[in-house]
Amino acid sequence: MRPATRLVRFEAAPGDPWRPLSTPIYQTAAFEQESATEFGAYDYTRSGNPTRHVLERELAALEDGAHAVAFTSGMAALSAVTRLAARGRIVAGLDLYGGTHRLLAHVCEPLGIEVERVDLADALASARALARRTDLVLVESPSNPLLGVVDVRALAELCRAHGALLCVDGSLCPPAYQQPLALGADLVVHSATKYLCGHGDVTAGVVSTRSRPLFERLAFTQNAEGAGLAPFECWLLLRGLKTLPLRFTAQQRHARHLARFLAAHPLVTRVHYPGLVTHPGHALHRAQSSGDGAVLSFETGDVEFSRRLVEALELFSIAVSFGSVHSQATLPCHMSHRSIPARERHGLPPDLVRLSVGIEDLRDLRADLEQALLCRPAEQETIGVRGP
Ligand SMILES: *Cc1c(COP(=O)(O)O)cnc(C)c1O
Repeated sequence: MRPATRLVRFEAAPGDPWRPLSTPIYQTAAFEQESATEFGAYDYTRSGNPTRHVLERELAALEDGAHAVAFTSGMAALSAVTRLAARGRIVAGLDLYGGTHRLLAHVCEPLGIEVERVDLADALASARALARRTDLVLVESPSNPLLGVVDVRALAELCRAHGALLCVDGSLCPPAYQQPLALGADLVVHSATKYLCGHGDVTAGVVSTRSRPLFERLAFTQNAEGAGLAPFECWLLLRGLKTLPLRFTAQQRHARHLARFLAAHPLVTRVHYPGLVTHPGHALHRAQSSGDGAVLSFETGDVEFSRRLVEALELFSIAVSFGSVHSQATLPCHMSHRSIPARERHGLPPDLVRLSVGIEDLRDLRADLEQALLCRPAEQETIGVRGP
């Protein structure tokens, strides 16, 4: 079955005699046991729940035969992955989600994990970093918010040669459109809060792997730390997943159009979107993925103009997160990536605007951007008609 079919045609309620088409929400903390000495399939929801297992099976199938573990958020998923490098060394990409930076710098490092940040799109720099014994390599492709692309296949080979695990955070490109495990990665993380849910009403995260031992260690952490996704959120995610291809196709079509519109606009100095032929990672991204996504970012050369533009938008809500049916705009340096000190932002432009494009009518979205861009750069204000 292809993903669009698989996402709606799956066994919704294994073992249920009434054969519901929608997975029941097993809203229970504990399950009664047949005997006092042996456990059945489920005993306690922190350790396992049928609604969560249906979701995890679906998520695993999307990554092509892997195991999947569902967590309470993308950060909980990433945190469980960093446990695999306990007392060891992590090499992470430069362009990273702000929360991931915070986890590495303020949780992992104080716990004694050595963290090195490296441009993993640079083969030489990656090889140099991996020449030292490394447990885990963590990279986003495309990255948030600069939409940088790394060669996952080449990086996976390098990691294998040095005995390091490769984890790709693919939150910006959902599993039906990019399968890092098939490209050689050991682990894939998604913030399911984004495209997988698609409606902005759940925070969730998932780690997928083809390795049984890695799966067992992650499932152990999920249970030991109590970070398993609750049954109702699992149900919402299962519901959202059914329309992933429909949503993603529409959102991506809109994003491609708006990226081209912005690239041609005289007040926009640079657009970052892997679907544009001018994007440095365009060919590579197309070679390892079948989706450009619906997140794009752009620069104006003027922080104050970027701020006013985002505030002038009416349809694009000023809100962090992305991948929802609802269009959203942020200033990453001031919002999602604020927790990263300025000196560690690795070239993140302060005037960067990030858009997540939704499923509204494209004409309305474009008109909204057009009207917002009319709020001119700050220095022109002083010579404006409504001067002091
Ligand atoms: C949002 C995001 C996360 C964190 O996910 P949450 O569900 O918000 O915890 C991790 N990585 C990337 C790339 C993200 O965009």
